[in-house]
Amino acid sequence: MMDIAVHIQITGIVQGVGFRPFAYNLAQRYGVKGWVSNNASGVEIEVEGSQAAISGFVADLSSQSPPLAVIDTFTVKDCQLGGYADFRIMASVADTTKTALVSPDVATCSHCREELLNPADRRYRYPFINCTNCGPRFTIINDIPYDRQATTMAEFTMCPDCQAEYDNPANRRFHAQPNACPVCGPAYQLLDKEGRPVDSQEDDVFIQARKQLAAGRVLAIKGIGGYHLAVNAFDHAAAARLRQRKVREDKPFAVMAGSLAAIKTQCLVSPLEEQLLTSAAKPIVLLNKGEGYSLAESIAPANPCIGMMLPYTPAHTLLLAPADIWVMTSGNLSDEPIAYQDNDAISRLNTIADYFLVHNRDIYCRADDSVVKVVFNKPYFFRRSRGYVPGPVNLVRELPPVLAVGGELKNTFCLTRGKQAFLSAHIGDLENMPTYQSYVEAIEHMQKLLAVTPMVVACDLHPEYLSTKYAQTIGLPTVAVQHHHAHIAAVMAEHHLTGPVIGLAFDGTGYGPDGTLWGGEFLVADIREYRRAGHLSYLPLPGGAQAVRQPWRIAVCLLKELYGEDFINHQAIPLVQDLPAGWELVIAAAEKKINTPLSSGAGRLFDTAAALLGIRQSINYEGQAAIELELAAQGAVGRVLSYGIKEVDGKWNLDFKPVFAALCQALQQGSAVGPLAADFHTTLAAAACDMTLKISRATGIRDIALSGGVFQNITLLSQVVGMLTQHKLQLYLHRQAPPNDGGLALGQAVIAGEGSR
Ligand SMILES: [Zn+2]
Ligand SMILES: [Zn+2]
Ligand SMILES: [Zn+2]
Repeated sequence: MMDIAVHIQITGIVQGVGFRPFAYNLAQRYGVKGWVSNNASGVEIEVEGSQAAISGFVADLSSQSPPLAVIDTFTVKDCQLGGYADFRIMASVADTTKTALVSPDVATCSHCREELLNPADRRYRYPFINCTNCGPRFTIINDIPYDRQATTMAEFTMCPDCQAEYDNPANRRFHAQPNACPVCGPAYQLLDKEGRPVDSQEDDVFIQARKQLAAGRVLAIKGIGGYHLAVNAFDHAAAARLRQRKVREDKPFAVMAGSLAAIKTQCLVSPLEEQLLTSAAKPIVLLNKGEGYSLAESIAPANPCIGMMLPYTPAHTLLLAPADIWVMTSGNLSDEPIAYQDNDAISRLNTIADYFLVHNRDIYCRADDSVVKVVFNKPYFFRRSRGYVPGPVNLVRELPPVLAVGGELKNTFCLTRGKQAFLSAHIGDLENMPTYQSYVEAIEHMQKLLAVTPMVVACDLHPEYLSTKYAQTIGLPTVAVQHHHAHIAAVMAEHHLTGPVIGLAFDGTGYGPDGTLWGGEFLVADIREYRRAGHLSYLPLPGGAQAVRQPWRIAVCLLKELYGEDFINHQAIPLVQDLPAGWELVIAAAEKKINTPLSSGAGRLFDTAAALLGIRQSINYEGQAAIELELAAQGAVGRVLSYGIKEVDGKWNLDFKPVFAALCQALQQGSAVGPLAADFHTTLAAAACDMTLKISRATGIRDIALSGGVFQNITLLSQVVGMLTQHKLQLYLHRQAPPNDGGLALGQAVIAGEGSR
């Protein structure tokens, strides 16, 4: 039999995931000869052997690839016989196109975990153990191709044992770039809040740290993508202290449990939730509290859900015993980016943490924990960051290279390359200089990693966003994209839709081209253009942004409109019982239209209802009033109260004032707040469904896309989906990007890219 030879090019996430040793071992098994190499597009292989051996090799290569590999393309071509004597792994070929994908960070694999806990292993209790199947990736890389010299491991020279593993194609650590051991690698250290090493009889810093935590202290722990702040989640006083030290912080804390069994003592866990919790990305999964829930009340007060995750670094495994549950919240002050550089962390966090568990491997790129919830039996992201970034979103077709700079809150940005879009890690709220600086650095870094030179910049239509201002400094053609069109386009991009669809964008506020604040939008949209087919009717926001922080401002104006001067006698309305100081001035300003912009934001409806019902008059974080209103509804399906829909200038206008009037009336008849919160949700879902059906009938469009931060409200989302599905409409939800502004840049990128094709 004549030997044959083939050349194979594989693209996707195939570097840093053990692909070359896998190919090497496969070649040994089939007795084929040739070579494998990383190139800038992925992995390249040339093999020769008998027809049968080659076809077996090729089939297994694509079907049995390593667990972390994600193959995008797999191209096999015949080539000349090379007369090779064996099969070799060749050095990486650096070339200028650099299209290989960098892997996200990967949680410790089961093999490394076993070695970590095995007293006979040379890496017993070594907190940086990793292999080609696990360990840090994205957060330590400063350039590609992915090689040790291009990572923050470059300063650690491997000892002979580590080097031998690294050089041996049959070893699990063959070309594992962060390979290290206690002899040659980085180490942890426990510092006090002045940054001095802690004096202790005990050598093991993890045992020391556990003791401090058991004594109620707050620990700052350096991990993969930044610092966490930790306390024992069963310790009520410590949890309360942490909450009090993290100023202006009412958001629930995430927790880490030492084992899945520990999570199951606290929460209900479905098979898919279990799969997410134990996946290589190890995100925070929002779970329903179970009957045995016994964690400190201040961790997730009044909330039926809690964010849980499992250890994802060797250090976590050493810190948390299987039964332990610790608060592990982002190491930042409210509104600032997560700390990731050591000096910075100590100076910024020493008013919060008592001790710092630090290490000397630099984090090149910060990455917060990802947050996901299972919705309709599929993952639904609230934050897509560590473990997922820089994995791509695959697009329906190739686009020119675009940089989309994102929005203002929960900012992420996005770069496109060919048929793929790369959303950045979570940056945060672009409202202060530290966040802005980390944003600009992250954009430059991602452009380098992806070797993308954008031709077009996409930004929000809002002229005052820092991201918009940044876009204007770049000196490239800029496309300003309407906020809600971007939200809808992001859903379309994920589902490979080009439109038209009816897009329901329910949001806080986004800039409308008419200068008003949009946010309760029914758009007829395709991937390039949109038409505003309907919207929520406008509410005045007395004081502008202040009305967003103080929902009572909107509510008092509404009461004045409903009842006139007499509204202060309607004492059954909780807001009237407890009118905040200055309400007269607010009404006067609104009536004179002084600093009182108009908003159609769906978020403002929630704010108004929450204020009227006495649930929340002022907020400490974005969406707080809406979240608490949802909690009050307790997931119940309420009544449908009457609302108004009318057509004005060819647009459907949904008026919610009759609903607020009905809520006020019910309060005066003695109704409890909880059922009224449920009525509010069900009425909004029914009204949204009604509006959508009118537009669907008029246009014949049956594809419906849902996006915007308000659709993080699962009570509303599930009722909207339930009602629309009954009418045989096809619904599309976010499955890769979050519905909040963390997904905005994806939509911006696609709209700008399609418009520049
Ligand atoms: Zn491993
Ligand atoms: Zn070593
Ligand atoms: Zn938005």
